[in-house]
Amino acid sequence: MSDTKPDSKDASASTGASNFIRHMIAQDLASSKHGGRVQTRFPPEPNGYLHIGHAKSICLNFTVAAENGGHCNLRFDDTNPAKESQEFVDSIKDNITWLGFQWHGDVRYSSNYFDALFDFAVQLINKGLAYVCSLSADEAREYRGTLTAPGRNSPDRERSIADNIDLFSRMRAGEFADGTYSLRAKIDMASPNINMRDPVLYRIRHIDHHQTGSTWCIYPTYDYTHCISDAIENITHSICTLEFEDHRPLYDWILHNLDIDSLRAVSDLADSDYDYVLPEQTEFAKLKLNYTMMGKRNLKEMVETGVVQGWDDPRMPTLAGMRRRGFTPASIRNFCESVGVSRSESVVDLSMLEHAVREDLDKHAARAMCVLNPLKVVLTNLPSGHVERLSMANHPKDESMGRREVPLTQEIFIDRADFEESPPEGFKRLVPGGEVRLRGAYVIRCDEVIKSSSGKVQELHCSVDRDTLGKNPEGRKVKGVIHWVSAELSLPVSVRLYDRLFNVEKPDSKDIEDYRTCLNPDSLVELYDCFVEPSVADSAVRHFQFEREGYFCVDAIDSTPERLVFNRTITLRDSWSV
Ligand code: ATP
Ligand code: MG
Repeated sequence: MSDTKPDSKDASASTGASNFIRHMIAQDLASSKHGGRVQTRFPPEPNGYLHIGHAKSICLNFTVAAENGGHCNLRFDDTNPAKESQEFVDSIKDNITWLGFQWHGDVRYSSNYFDALFDFAVQLINKGLAYVCSLSADEAREYRGTLTAPGRNSPDRERSIADNIDLFSRMRAGEFADGTYSLRAKIDMASPNINMRDPVLYRIRHIDHHQTGSTWCIYPTYDYTHCISDAIENITHSICTLEFEDHRPLYDWILHNLDIDSLRAVSDLADSDYDYVLPEQTEFAKLKLNYTMMGKRNLKEMVETGVVQGWDDPRMPTLAGMRRRGFTPASIRNFCESVGVSRSESVVDLSMLEHAVREDLDKHAARAMCVLNPLKVVLTNLPSGHVERLSMANHPKDESMGRREVPLTQEIFIDRADFEESPPEGFKRLVPGGEVRLRGAYVIRCDEVIKSSSGKVQELHCSVDRDTLGKNPEGRKVKGVIHWVSAELSLPVSVRLYDRLFNVEKPDSKDIEDYRTCLNPDSLVELYDCFVEPSVADSAVRHFQFEREGYFCVDAIDSTPERLVFNRTITLRDSWSV
């Protein structure tokens, strides 16, 4: 079986390069290890917004399932209600859909399984494999030992099964305060793997939950919940990141110590003749990007301390921020595919992500002209009231994107940077007495420079060579081409120029005491006096290449019908690489 074949038209069906996970799945299918099924899941905790690292996991899980005729579930890993909320649930669903993926069936929540998880805990107690422990958090930490010293048994470790059942039921009934008791697995306090030193399975938290309300006051831990949720959903390949490698023995311990028929009985496929197989965990290396802080905890802090303007600030590596900035779903999927999947940690260069969005926008963004720093030009040999509608292609290589009309009038704006009174050598744009071509229109000559009393250039008086539309001027060469808009018929707009948020490669490095000292002061430059050609207002598309300036998109939140706001997604060329 090919491990690279796309099998449907949706986003999941990429033509991916081989990697160790694709290879493993191909082998498992060949040997019918999981009954020939592939069932994956993406298991976010709803405690923040998704970031580009999560996108890698989403692309991987959804794509390997779809490529092999399988499915991918969306399961909220919601065992820590203190930090979770419906706002995060909603944004995560929205982000996944936007990326182009559709989860299998209903959205799942680990909290859907709280009853089953409780019953399985009782089963472990009855098998003598779990006990109620009264050590405080500090004591438990002290008893746990260290990487070099074994732990010590809890004084409650030999409590009778009957007493454990009684206490666990009373924990559930709300008789005890937070932190007074926990339920722990009885494994091995001397294990070299600290995760196996009688890990906590349940803790008491008198707190409402965004899905289950006040039904529960005890909540299962991530490790206990995750493997059982996978087993309930008949997940075949439980793909996660490398920090869970040391948790895998616990994942397996819990599942292998539960009665397999009781797991099968509550699983999705309980009523089918599927030969029940336990899920298996496989780890891959997290995506890391230079010039970027990832990790929901860091991002949350940047939002809460006002370093950025919100989770969807276009400088954030969140999917919400990247979407607002103008990244397309395809560019993110292509990037995730291009970085590959492996078990070795490495840092990916941010320019790879920027390249992916440039490449996609080059193909799909409509071309338009926008003047960011306007300088008025009067075309002295055009009559006032002159309106000439010039037809221009929306894309130089894609006719299907159609054409638009750009009005030329007596007064236009060009960019201040395109005129120099005393030009440096090699300057090809407009100079006093010199000529330049207006993009898609005529060659003009600068006849007069009008200045204010302070000497600032206020406007230029130029004449149009009417014999130069679509052809070279007679007898001379004009090299420079500049963009322009009609002064009367353009739209005033605001433009935000975004750039990298940090100016160092590792803002989260231990050597940096405070990442705030590494913020790029130019990560956001706001311009309020820009003018864009009028076709943009009627355009059905959101993404534009403003000729010579970069790729921009309409800001979906701050734009109003009266005034559009554009975000610069990315410059035309990489200015960071040396
Ligand atoms: P963070 O460290 O940003 O808080 P997390 O791992 O705590 O992330 P979860 O909501 O638990 O966030 O993650 C959901 C899934 O996304 C997990 O399977 C996790 O392994 C994966 N994931 C998280 N960060 C990355 C990353 N940088 N690269 C690839 N996968 C990631
Ligand atoms: Mg987490």
